[in-house]
Amino acid sequence: MRVNLLGAAIDSLTMQETVQRVAQLVKCGKSCQIITLNPEYLYRAQLQPELMEPVNRADLVTPDGAGIVWASRMAGTPVPERVTGIDLMLHLMPMAEKEGWGIFLLGAAPGVAEAAAENLRKQYPSLNIVGTCHGYFKEVEEEDIVSQIKAAQPHLLFVALGMPKQEQWIYKYKDRLGVPVSMGVGGSLDVIAGRMQRVSPWLRKLQLEWLGRLIKEPRRWRRQLVLPKFAWLVIKKYVLKL
Ligand code: UDP
Repeated sequence: MRVNLLGAAIDSLTMQETVQRVAQLVKCGKSCQIITLNPEYLYRAQLQPELMEPVNRADLVTPDGAGIVWASRMAGTPVPERVTGIDLMLHLMPMAEKEGWGIFLLGAAPGVAEAAAENLRKQYPSLNIVGTCHGYFKEVEEEDIVSQIKAAQPHLLFVALGMPKQEQWIYKYKDRLGVPVSMGVGGSLDVIAGRMQRVSPWLRKLQLEWLGRLIKEPRRWRRQLVLPKFAWLVIKKYVLKL
C-alpha cells in the first residue's frame, strides 16, 4: 500500500517487507530507483516541483526520518516504521552476499567508498563489490562515471552525493546505467567507512536523530530549519485542515 503525504506517494512497508520488495526489483530487470524520503526533501519538493518528479516516478519510496513517520500518523495513514537509507543498505547486505549481487558504491570524499567497501567485505567476505568511485567529480566527468558503472554491471548502486543531488543524479542516468536498483544513501558511506559516527541508538529511539546530527555536524543547522516549517505544513494540512 502507498500513502500520500504532501503529494508524495510513500510505500507503507516494514523494513523486512522493503528488503523483499528490493529483491523483487533486482529480479524484474528494469532500472529501478529507490528514494528514502526525509522531511527536508519533502519540504523542498513543495517549493521545487522538479524534486517531486523523481519521487513520483520512483519504484519504491521509503519513510526516512521520524518526521515522515509522525506526519503519516497526522495524516491518518500511519506507516509501520522508519526505513532509512543506511538501515536499508545494511539490511540488503546479507541478501546481496547470498545472491551474489554486484554492488557499486559511488560518492563521498576520495578514499571513503573504498574504505566502506573494505569494511563491508570484512563483515560479508563473499560480498561482490564490483566498483567504487568518489563523489567529487566535475560535470564533464559524469560520462566516464556512467561508463565505469555500466561496465561493472552491478545489481545495486548506492549513491552518496547528499540529497537532493543523489536522487536527481540517479533519476537523470538510471535508464542509461541499466542497474536494476539504485538508491541515494547520503552520509552512509562515511559511517560505514568509520569516518563519521552514527547518532546513538537511544537518541534515535527518542526520535531525536536530528539533534544528534546537529551536535555532530553543526553546519546542518541551516538545513534543519526546514523541520519546524515541515511540521507546520503537516499540521495545517492534516490537523487544522486549512
Ligand atoms: N558528497 C559527495 N559529493 C558532493 C557532495 C557531497 O560525494 O558533491 C558526499 C559527502 O562527502 C557525504 C554525502 O555526500 O559523504 C552527504 O552526506 P549527508 O549526510 O550530508 O547526506 P544527506 O543527509 O544530505 O543525504
